[in-house]
Amino acid sequence: MMDFPARVDSGPVVGRLAPTPSGLLHLGNACAFAAAWLSVRAKGGELLLRVEDVDTTRARRAVEDQLREDMAWLGLTWDREVPRQSERDYGPALEALGEAVYFCECTRAQIRANGGVHPNELCKARQSHQGAVRWSVPEAGQVAFEDRRWGRRVVTPGEFGDPVLRRRDGIFAYTLAVVADDIADGVTEVVRGADLLDFSALQSLLWRALGHEPPSWLHAPLLLGGDGRKLSKSHGSLHIGAMREASWSPRDIWRLLLPMLGIDGAETLPEAVSAFKADGGALGPIGMDLPVDAACPASSEGVAWSEVQ
Ligand SMILES: [Zn+2]
Repeated sequence: MMDFPARVDSGPVVGRLAPTPSGLLHLGNACAFAAAWLSVRAKGGELLLRVEDVDTTRARRAVEDQLREDMAWLGLTWDREVPRQSERDYGPALEALGEAVYFCECTRAQIRANGGVHPNELCKARQSHQGAVRWSVPEAGQVAFEDRRWGRRVVTPGEFGDPVLRRRDGIFAYTLAVVADDIADGVTEVVRGADLLDFSALQSLLWRALGHEPPSWLHAPLLLGGDGRKLSKSHGSLHIGAMREASWSPRDIWRLLLPMLGIDGAETLPEAVSAFKADGGALGPIGMDLPVDAACPASSEGVAWSEVQ
């Protein structure tokens, strides 16, 4: 088994807020961003903003503008903006993987016929010269890594088939882009939503394949809508913009999110920062039901939460 120990840093902490401008900010993303923000602020580190628009077919500038506005309204500030993904070249990262990548021309039907998992060996044997580019995952067995909240996780990334790193239309996949970016940007901790928790095993392997040790991982609980599903576009009323129009204040939203991140009773953002624990809150379910019916609390306390920093 490949075992990645928890990262120990002696230097400054560097984290990032990495919004994807294909969907508006909802409570679920806001919770993950709040965790990333608190974690870096609690350590006096540097927080970067990186727009993750590698999939240029889905990114929308108007959505990005709204994301920035909603983040600023919540008080999710950043120290420095780094180049957006659509401005970067991931060719060198792909090249650095050398012969561990191969072309794939598998059709959806061929993948379906293999139980929905990419038929790695069959595909490699075809020796295609075009199509998508996949990474031959170096570890077929179990991979262990440390999450600050959920502790040691053991997953078998090989079960999901070799991941695509560049699509057949030439667009680089998030899988490669996010690791190449975090390495280039000097990121030491990745704090995000728990939907990507077990994906961190594969990413840890990719960090190492690119010559670096993986970051410190912390995954914030996943917020579920009343229907038990992960919050998504279908839960329109839980978009931050919609909540704002329904008279929620930033303070109301932070009050909703902070208990999920292990913080009770903080009245200001500085208080929340000092109450934040490195483990990101007590161990609990990975998916948490929202304690709201999208009913707006009696708000209007005059001062916006983000203005009392
Ligand atoms: Zn294939």
